[in-house]
Amino acid sequence: MRVAVFGAGYAGLTVARRLERWLPEAVDIVVVDESPSHLVQHELHRAIRYPDLADTITVPLEDVLTRATVRQARVTQLDPEAGVATLDVDGETESLEYDFAAVCLGAETAFYDLPGVEEHATPLKRLNHAETIRSDAFDSAGGNAVVGGAGLSGIQVAGELAALSDSEGLDLDVTVVEMADRVAPSFDESFARAVRRELDARGIAAETGATVERADEDGIDLADGRTLAADFLVWTGGIRGPDALGGERRPVNADLAVGDGTFVVGDAGAVTDEWGDPVPASAQTAVREARIAAKNIDRLVRERRDDDEHARLATYSFDSPGWVVSIGDGAVAQIGPVVCSGDPAKAAKAAIGAGHLSSVGAIERASELVHEELGWPDASAFDFSAELARLVERYEFTAQTDPATPSELEVPFLDTTLAFAETMVPGGTVDVTRATRLADRSHPGSPANVFEDLVFGALGGMFGSKRTENDEE
Ligand SMILES: Cc1cc2nc3c(=O)[nH]c(=O)nc-3n(C[C@H](O)[C@H](O)[C@H](O)COP(=O)(O)OP(=O)(O)OC[C@H]3O[C@@H](n4cnc5c(N)ncnc54)[C@H](O)[C@@H]3O)c2cc1C
Repeated sequence: MRVAVFGAGYAGLTVARRLERWLPEAVDIVVVDESPSHLVQHELHRAIRYPDLADTITVPLEDVLTRATVRQARVTQLDPEAGVATLDVDGETESLEYDFAAVCLGAETAFYDLPGVEEHATPLKRLNHAETIRSDAFDSAGGNAVVGGAGLSGIQVAGELAALSDSEGLDLDVTVVEMADRVAPSFDESFARAVRRELDARGIAAETGATVERADEDGIDLADGRTLAADFLVWTGGIRGPDALGGERRPVNADLAVGDGTFVVGDAGAVTDEWGDPVPASAQTAVREARIAAKNIDRLVRERRDDDEHARLATYSFDSPGWVVSIGDGAVAQIGPVVCSGDPAKAAKAAIGAGHLSSVGAIERASELVHEELGWPDASAFDFSAELARLVERYEFTAQTDPATPSELEVPFLDTTLAFAETMVPGGTVDVTRATRLADRSHPGSPANVFEDLVFGALGGMFGSKRTENDEE
């Protein structure tokens, strides 16, 4: 029996690693990705300012998959009904038949056929895009950078560009353009307001209610007749489904199933959850959906092997414990009803990135990320207790909504990020064994998932938000 996982981003790697643990040995697991590495996409904007971060956020699949066969190939077509994928392997076409599959190919940037936009703008989906944006910034010193779209990626790209301009003396004017009447339009208003404040504080102009109609080498035209000059344009204005699915995000219900044994997971699908609500495309939801898909594949494999009665499929319901974005050297976090900025938000951002890396087995990279994100390059000068005290104080100070027990907030953020920071020894290396032991002490039995458990689980629980995926670690 063969199980295939197409794409090894957040969704695919989560599915694959679970199936490696759960499926009977006789089942062949194949992971297909056009890249040999997993990319921590939600940190990709950071590579615009810090090109060296590329290594930290790129995880070779062979390092984190132990049992699956990894195939580097482009999926060009999928036929879920027949259980067949068409692959492009170094220019040769091959078919891959499977019994069960998770389609985790992510999304592509949508340019909506707006004249000139695809031609003149750089999207941000891969590392080479970050490199292009960085060199465009240097080439455009003294000019205008325009970012189309003020969702998770657009906000964070604008923040990096402004910070790069400051640190390198590029004197760029950065503008983010958003069709909706506020930035971060898919998120709570309090979060969007805090994001706007951070953008304003960094001198980033936000044009809201501004619909891009076309672009050329000089800039963009807006539907209201205005023209914005742009020396370079970054487009983060929307996503579409992968070409292998005909360019559409495949609509799926809460069990994520298409056909009898194929599941569409993450950005590749337009998921409606068990309450009938559309699920936002995000790393956070991709990972949670993946847990459901892995569970369903496991059930179907066992049903077929044991000739059991029809397996009941698990379903996904969206319940987010919060969101965190970085804006240059600042950050905004919404955890439950609390919106905060400053160091605690930065710690949360680092913890989430590190949490993801550690949950996919890349524990050294997790440590590096905390190290780089929180700006503690000189570990010998790092005073753990003082830093802890400072962050706790700062957090309570910046929390805008009064949670029932604010002092408890320190624990999840700081246990996690600082457990790793604490292990950094002079010279910037990390004692991984010790970090794991620390993590294990906080969360016995689940060291690899400690960050994620803390940030998404413990904090979510603290504010009455629940974990819904019935996770069976
Ligand atoms: C700059 C930026 C910042 C972001 N910030 C956040 C954030 O703060 N929080 C958040 O929750 N989300 C954030 N996101 C969104 C988040 O990164 C995506 O929602 C998430 O990556 C979706 O996960 P996925 O597994 O569905 O797809 P991906 O992570 O995109 O993975 C898809 C995988 O499929 C592979 N693939 C694609 N096509 C093919 C093919 N044809 N053949 C073979 N392999 C293929 C790719 O190589 C990749 O490995 C951000 C995105 C960006 C770009």
